[in-house]
Amino acid sequence: MTKKAGSAGGRAHAVHRALKRAILDQALTPGSKLPEDSIGERLGVSRTLVREALVRLSSEGLVELRPNKGAVVARPTLEEGRNLFLTRMALERLVVETLSGKLAEPQIARLSDHIATEEATTKDHAASIRLAGEFHTLLAQMTENESLIRYINELVARSSLILTLYGRPHSSECAVSEHRELLETLMAGKTGRAIELMAHHLESITTRALLPSEDRVNIQDVLLTYAMAEGLG
Ligand SMILES: [Zn+2]
Repeated sequence: MTKKAGSAGGRAHAVHRALKRAILDQALTPGSKLPEDSIGERLGVSRTLVREALVRLSSEGLVELRPNKGAVVARPTLEEGRNLFLTRMALERLVVETLSGKLAEPQIARLSDHIATEEATTKDHAASIRLAGEFHTLLAQMTENESLIRYINELVARSSLILTLYGRPHSSECAVSEHRELLETLMAGKTGRAIELMAHHLESITTRALLPSEDRVNIQDVLLTYAMAEGLG
């Protein structure tokens, strides 16, 4: 993050970040072509650097590399989305267990500042999804568990793409009040409660925001009215 954009490594990071941001902000929508030459030209970098960034984005599940056809922005399915949130629940439980009662003052300040930014950014849908995701990756970073950080970064990036695709406006982003409550519970070291909150938080994203309306129809609820009208039941 502190690397200068001048060095080759710094430029590669910058290209990756620029493309990732454009995808998560939905400036580049799923299915959009990502031609190496015009991206390189626009960003003032070589095709090799663009290629590197695309490979990395593909490992994060944000880009699909098609042999001989070039890269496109990925279009994950809704089913993948549900599985992804289930996986996040398991991994983020570990984050919560690791951090409960152990957050240092600067970490608390950092998380609290981040939540304040989220609270101030409710109008911009894409930005609020990005910020909500960053809250989860920030928590993961604080565990200092490298593999956990890497997996959660990937899952959060892909979740964001799924939410931009399937999320309903106003319900798809994490509820910011739940982030605040989670932070307070972690600070208090109430591990059991923090685990419950995180599970409920991620579950509510899958049920409230991700499911299309037809999946939420309860057959018995629907039939009740009709059964009553016909004198049945
Ligand atoms: Zn959240």
